[in-house]
Amino acid sequence: MPTPPHQLLIIGGGFAGLECASKLANDERFAITLIDRTNHHLFQPLLYQVATASLAGPDIARSIRQILADAKNVTVLMDEITAIDPTGKSATGLSGSVYAYDSLVLAAGARTGYFGHDEWAAHTLGLKSLADAQNIRRTVLSNLERAELSTDPAERAKLMTVAIIGGGPTGVELAGAFADLVHRSLKSNFRRIDTAKLRVILIEGSELILEAYEPDQSLYARQRLEKLGVEVRNNTRVTCVREGVLDFKDGSSLEAAAIIWAAGIAANPLTACLGVPMDRGGRITPNPDLSVPGHPEIFLAGDLVSMKNPDGKIVPGVAPAAVQMGAHIAKLLKAEGPATVRPSFHYHDKGMMAIIGKNYAVMKSGNICLQGFIAWLAWLFIHITFLVGFRNKLSVLLGWAYAYIVNNPEARIIVNPPTVATGKVPLT
Ligand SMILES: Cc1cc2nc3c(=O)[nH]c(=O)nc-3n(C[C@H](O)[C@H](O)[C@H](O)COP(=O)(O)OP(=O)(O)OC[C@H]3O[C@@H](n4cnc5c(N)ncnc54)[C@H](O)[C@@H]3O)c2cc1C
Repeated sequence: MPTPPHQLLIIGGGFAGLECASKLANDERFAITLIDRTNHHLFQPLLYQVATASLAGPDIARSIRQILADAKNVTVLMDEITAIDPTGKSATGLSGSVYAYDSLVLAAGARTGYFGHDEWAAHTLGLKSLADAQNIRRTVLSNLERAELSTDPAERAKLMTVAIIGGGPTGVELAGAFADLVHRSLKSNFRRIDTAKLRVILIEGSELILEAYEPDQSLYARQRLEKLGVEVRNNTRVTCVREGVLDFKDGSSLEAAAIIWAAGIAANPLTACLGVPMDRGGRITPNPDLSVPGHPEIFLAGDLVSMKNPDGKIVPGVAPAAVQMGAHIAKLLKAEGPATVRPSFHYHDKGMMAIIGKNYAVMKSGNICLQGFIAWLAWLFIHITFLVGFRNKLSVLLGWAYAYIVNNPEARIIVNPPTVATGKVPLT
C-alpha cells in the first residue's frame, strides 16, 4: 500500500510561508494546503511607495495562486484562520472550514502594535497591508484637496500636517517620500496652497532615528531628511493620541490631520492559540529547529518568531529572515526520518538598507557601510531583483524609471475619497 502524503498546512502566504511551499513544490510526499486571508503575496518593503503615490497597489503584490500554479501538490485557499487546536492538530477558518494537519507551519506575520495602547489605532494610520497604504495615500491627498478649498488658516495648517510616529526605516522612508511628493511631484498642481508647505514631522522617542544603523549613518539620515524639509523630533515621547492631535511627554501638543503610526509591530494573535510563553509583542521563541516547544509537528517562521542566532545576535524581523526560515523548515521536512537529528536554524545576515527620499539611502552589510547615491542604487537593484515574478519586476522598474525622470508619479487618483465636509470615508 502506498503511504499517504504528509498533510502540511501552511498559514500565511507571505515571505516565510511562500518560500516553504515553493521549496516543497511537486514533492509527492507532501500534500500542502496554503491558506492566506488575502489572495496575494505582498512585497511590504515597498508599501511606503504605494502610500506616497509613487506606485500603484498591484505593482507590489501578486496572486499567490498564480505564483504556485505549477506546484501540483499545493492547494491555495483564501480563508482567515481564527483558531488553532494544537492537541487536535487542526485549524479553523472564518469560513467555518476545519483544516486537519500532520505538520503545521505558522507564518502569519505581524500586525501594527501600539505598545498596549490599542485605542490609538482609531486615530492613526498603520502601514502593514495594501489597504493601509491606500488609506494613507487617500488621507494625505484628500487633506491637500480640502486645504485647497479651505479659507481658514488654522484648518489649512492642520490639513497640511503629516505626523509620522517612529523613526525606524518605515518612518524615515515615508517621511522622505512625502517630502519628495510635495516638493517635486505636486509642486505646480495646486493654485491656492503651496504644497511645499506641507509639514512632515518625524517623531522618534529615542536619541537617534535609524537606531540599528551606525551613529554617523543615523546622523546622515537626519541631515538628509532636514534638507528635504522634514522636521525630525528626536527624544520626543508620545503620551496620548487623540483625533487629529498628539500629546507629548513635555506637555506640548501637535495638531495633524494625518497621523501615521510606524512605531511598532506585534505578532499575529494566532500565536496565543499555541499555549506556550510569548514575549510582550506576542512573539514565540521556538526550539533551535524552529518547532514549537512540546510540539515537534508545529513550526514557526517569520515575523512572529523571537530568537537569537547561535552567536547571540537577535534575528531581525525582516524579509530575508522570513525567507530563510521558510526554506529551513522545508529542508528539514524533506530530510525528516525516524532517526534524523533536526538541524538548527541560523540566520545569514546580508545587511539592511533604508531609502531617504529620491537618490539617497543608507546601507549596512557586515563591515560595509554605504550612504548616498551609491547606496540608493544598491537599494534599487536589490529590491527589484527581490520582487516576486518577472511581470512585476518589469512593470515596477518601468514605473519607477518614468516617475524618476519626470518627477511625476501616476498613482495619485483618490479612490473612495473622504467627504469634503467631514474628512470621513463614506460607506459604500
Ligand atoms: C512598511 C514595511 C516596510 C518593510 N520594509 C522592509 C525592508 O525594507 N526590508 C526587509 O527585509 N523587511 C522589511 N519589512 C519587514 C518584512 O516585510 C517582514 O519581515 C516580512 O514580510 C515577514 O514575513 P512573514 O512571512 O513573517 O509575514 P508576512 O509577509 O507579513 O506574511 C504573513 C501572511 O499571513 C497572512 N495572514 C495573516 N493572518 C492570517 C490569518 N489569520 N489567516 C490566514 N492568513 C493570515 C497575511 O495575509 C500575509 O500574507 C517591512 C515591513 C513593513 C510593514
